[in-house]
Amino acid sequence: MKDKAIKRAETICAQAIKEKKNTQPHQMSVCFSSAFRFDQLSDSIKAFENQPGTHVYSRYGNPTMESVAAKIAALEIAGSDISAHGLLTSSGMSAIYLAVTALLGKGDMIITQANLYGGTTELFNKVIQPQGIKLVYIDLSNLEKVEKSLRQKPLHKIIYLETPSNPTLHCYDIQALAELASRYHAFLIVDNTFCTPIIQQPLLLGADIVLHSTTKFIHGHGASTGGVVLVKEKTLFHQKIWQTMKLIGVNSNPMDAWMIQLGMMTLHLRMERHSENAFLLAKYLSSHPKVSHVNYPFLSYHPSFEIAKKQMSAGGAMLSFEAKTDVSGSKKMIDRLRLAAIAPSLGETGTMVLHPATSSHLKVDPELRKKEGITDGLIRVSVGLEHIDDIISDFDTALKKV
Ligand SMILES: *Cc1c(COP(=O)(O)O)cnc(C)c1O
Repeated sequence: MKDKAIKRAETICAQAIKEKKNTQPHQMSVCFSSAFRFDQLSDSIKAFENQPGTHVYSRYGNPTMESVAAKIAALEIAGSDISAHGLLTSSGMSAIYLAVTALLGKGDMIITQANLYGGTTELFNKVIQPQGIKLVYIDLSNLEKVEKSLRQKPLHKIIYLETPSNPTLHCYDIQALAELASRYHAFLIVDNTFCTPIIQQPLLLGADIVLHSTTKFIHGHGASTGGVVLVKEKTLFHQKIWQTMKLIGVNSNPMDAWMIQLGMMTLHLRMERHSENAFLLAKYLSSHPKVSHVNYPFLSYHPSFEIAKKQMSAGGAMLSFEAKTDVSGSKKMIDRLRLAAIAPSLGETGTMVLHPATSSHLKVDPELRKKEGITDGLIRVSVGLEHIDDIISDFDTALKKV
C-alpha cells in the first residue's frame, strides 16, 4: 500500500500486502501473482516492448515457473558449454502439442515411430493430422527410410522421437537421427520422459528440442501433473515456443512448479536407485524358468543394447516381461502382486505395473501391437525405490502359481 493514511477495512481487504523480507528464505518461495506491478507507466511500456523479459503477466512468465524450467534446462546441458531455454507447461501432452504446433502448419510433416506413448499417437492422429499436417510412421532405426522421407517436399519437417520406446524399450540412435535432421533442415524433437536428463541428454547429441512429462520421474512423487519444453536455440525458443505458449495458454502454475522442484531435489539419487533396482529385477526375471523374455535396454541380449550403452548412462526404471502362460495367466499373476501397484503411470517412488494390451495400448490395432512386440501377455513395470529383495520377492510369489 502506497499511502499509510488509507486505513478503511474495504481498502485493507482489497489491497495486496507489501511483503517485508529481512532475510532470504533458504528454499524457493512461490510467487502466486497473476500480474506484476510497475512504479511508473514508463516501466510498464518498457516491459511490454521487451518481451520476454521483465515479468508482466503470469501466463507470459512467472518467476517460480521460470526458475524451475531453468533448473531442468541446466540439467539437460549439464557438463557442456551449450545453453538451453525452457518453459513449463500444464502437462506432458500440452508440451508435445505446443512444440509441434509452434513449428508446423498446414502442409508440413512429422516423421515418427509407430511405438510412441499411446497419448501421443492419439494426439497426432486425432488433433494434429486434421490440421493438415502429414504423419509418416516408420521404423526410425532404418536410417535409409528416414532419409527417403526427409527428401519429401514440405518446407517444415520434424523427426519426433521417443527412446527408449514404450513398452518394449527399443532404443533409437539420437545422434544419427540428429545428423540426418540437420542435413535436411528438419527439427529433431525428443521425448526424454523415460530417461530424464540424469540418464540421457539428447540436446548434447544434436536434438533441437527436448520434452518431458514432468508428471513422471522429474517430479517423481505422483502428486503433480506437468510438462516442460527445452530448446537449444534462443530465437527458436522466443519466437516460436514462447510466443505460441503465451497465446494458447498451456502454461504451468506456481504450485505445480514448486512441487516439481521439490521432487527434483532427489532426482539424481532416485534415477540411480531406480536403475539399480530395475537392472537387478530384469536379471532376476530373465533367469526365472517361468519367464519367456524380458525387455530391458541394459541386458546384453536386448536388441538395443549397443545403442543404449552409447547414449544412456544407466538403464532407467522401465522394463517389460512376459511369463510362460496365456493371457489369463498373466492377468492372474498381476493380481497376485502385493507390493507393486496396478496403475496407469510410471516414474513414482513405488513400483507400478501395467498391462499394455488392456490399457495404454487398448486402442492400438491388435496386428500392429503384435508387430511392435506388444503381446497380449506382456507386463510393463516401472521399478520403484523399495528394497530390491522386497520387489523381487513380490514378483517371485506372483510367478509361483503361474
Ligand atoms: C506420460 C507421458 C506423456 C504425457 O504426459 P502427461 O503429463 O500425462 O500429459 C508423454 N510422453 C511420455 C513418454 C509419457 O510417459
